[in-house]
Amino acid sequence: MIFPFRYAMLKAELEVKTMGDREQLRSMIEQARHMVFFGGAGVSTESGIPDFRSEDGLYRQSYRYPPEVILSHSFFLRDPEEFFRFYREKMLCLEAKPNAAHRVLAALEKMGRLSCVITQNIDGLHQAAGSRRVLELHGSVHRNYCMECGKFYDVKAIADSHGIPRCSCGGIIKPDVVLYEEPLREGTIRSAIAEIQKADLLLVAGTSLSVYPAAGLIDYLRKGKLVLVNASPTSRDKEADLLISGKIGEVLSELHLI
Ligand code: NAD
Repeated sequence: MIFPFRYAMLKAELEVKTMGDREQLRSMIEQARHMVFFGGAGVSTESGIPDFRSEDGLYRQSYRYPPEVILSHSFFLRDPEEFFRFYREKMLCLEAKPNAAHRVLAALEKMGRLSCVITQNIDGLHQAAGSRRVLELHGSVHRNYCMECGKFYDVKAIADSHGIPRCSCGGIIKPDVVLYEEPLREGTIRSAIAEIQKADLLLVAGTSLSVYPAAGLIDYLRKGKLVLVNASPTSRDKEADLLISGKIGEVLSELHLI
């Protein structure tokens, strides 16, 4: 049994610790001259889009094949029908709206306090919140191209079609997302590396840092401080100058930066 006094002490200690984290982050953001944000699927869970590796993430749901198999280049070529069934059901979350994390980051950019967002997400929610400089390492569900003639299609072409989406020329319309086994776009990765090398503050959030080569980007940080905000531990926690366990939308809101 915990006595009321002891309980109050523990609660106060916890509050001080939490306050300390948030204040430290706030002051780091205020002092930064070149702040870069690097995020993953966890940035959009507060918008209702499941990530891959959380308790209720896609890896815990049962499908005929694991998500990284269905979302691979070879599977796409082998069984496009099954690929699009999974893709429409699980990767297209078109009703999702930006959450506090997306909104605060967009506002920080507008205020000239954030240089860019580097994201592993394909949902377009940073742009929906107003972010302009977004480096999408894994592409976007909002861009789709015919594999034969290269004609562009928006997301409705995939969402509103059945089976394998086809272009007017008969070719398959492929989402402009980087599938497993496919290389990242060279220009995007080069810009991301350049931004991180210049950063004096790299805020990393909502990523398990387990999908490479994207996760390896933080190795390019030179002299800048590294802040990690994540709902669960990552393999890089020990390297962080500041580590906050929590939800990124809640944490950024609590800073009252905007
Ligand atoms: P991941 O699923 O491997 O890891 C997500 C991490 O975020 C976990 O460690 C989890 O604890 C944490 N997390 C969950 N909600 C959080 C929150 N509100 N605040 C802070 N942390 C939170 O995701 P990943 O590292 O991005 O790698 C998965 C790959 O899947 C990426 O390549 C990404 O492109 C893709 N993906 C994208 C979306 C999307 O576009 N929204 C959704 C699912 C998967």
